[in-house]
Amino acid sequence: MMKLTVIVPCYNEEEALPFFYEEIKKTEAAMPYAEFELIFIDDGSGDRTLEVVKDLAVKDEKVKYISFSRNFGKEAAMYAGLKNASGDIAVIMDADLQDPPSLLPEMYRAITQEGFDSVATRRVTRQGEPPVRSFFARMFYRIINKISKTEIVDGARDYRMMNRKFINALLDIREYSRFSKGLYGWVGFKTKWLEYENKERVAGKTKWSFWKLFLYSIEGIVAFSTGPLAIASVLGVLMLGVGGIAILFIIVRQLLFGGSAFGWPSMVCIILLMGGLQLFCTGILGVYLSKAYLEVKERWNPDGKYQCIAGRTAGHRNPVV
Ligand code: UDP
Ligand code: MG
Repeated sequence: MMKLTVIVPCYNEEEALPFFYEEIKKTEAAMPYAEFELIFIDDGSGDRTLEVVKDLAVKDEKVKYISFSRNFGKEAAMYAGLKNASGDIAVIMDADLQDPPSLLPEMYRAITQEGFDSVATRRVTRQGEPPVRSFFARMFYRIINKISKTEIVDGARDYRMMNRKFINALLDIREYSRFSKGLYGWVGFKTKWLEYENKERVAGKTKWSFWKLFLYSIEGIVAFSTGPLAIASVLGVLMLGVGGIAILFIIVRQLLFGGSAFGWPSMVCIILLMGGLQLFCTGILGVYLSKAYLEVKERWNPDGKYQCIAGRTAGHRNPVV
């Protein structure tokens, strides 16, 4: 019998959790062939989430929980869940029932019988979402897929089931700024895609403000593309060319027609433009530099323990266990 770990990141989900627990228990009953383990990650909630989870853990020995000292974000919660999962298979699910548990048997079958390493889900509609948010989400996916080599599927959810091989490969990536939707694609392996219609959350409110999502999308772009760096250098070269031509023009005009005081306004413009451009480029460099800084510090794995898989060398991915 295979063990299935259900990982549930929770941030202020006291209202949704009882519904979630009830549903997942029904699904568990419908899947007697799998041994369940539930890991709730309380991501520094300010409400009674932790109490609710603790009560469940007392009542039900299959329930485990991790509690963060503050809100670290969903990515950190998912990582902690995967790291502590003892199952042969793990699945990440939202606490608000937007990820339907009814798909679990089909996902489980795909991994145990059809030979897939992971089963991913994507929603085909964005019903019930503010139109502005959908618009920017679509833009984000279009941009990132243009400039990144890793495929990041539009509408893909974090709702994903994976086998041990896949989990270990994910844990093997120790980067601090995690963007799971990209990491899943990056590690590779055989993935089956399931589609479903968007569902409204069962209780509570969304934890992602527009601003939070915007920052997360920047994270995704910086983590999976060096495109912005190239834009800066292309722009820089272009501006240098324009500046050079302008200076040549002024020298030639001076030699042919004289009159030295002419043209200072245009010079001031050029100086301003160049200054602005340099600052812009330095800003982009700064973003990457700050990422490198965080990676070098290896803050992510404070215990220094590396999930080592025999035979893995730098640059070699998809380790086989
Ligand atoms: N979440 C989290 N930490 C955060 C934000 C969200 O653990 O900082 C969890 C949240 O409790 C939920 C899941 O991530 O289980 C998805 O969040 P939400 O439903 O608010 O996002 P949406 O479905 O609206 O995109
Ligand atoms: Mg949700």
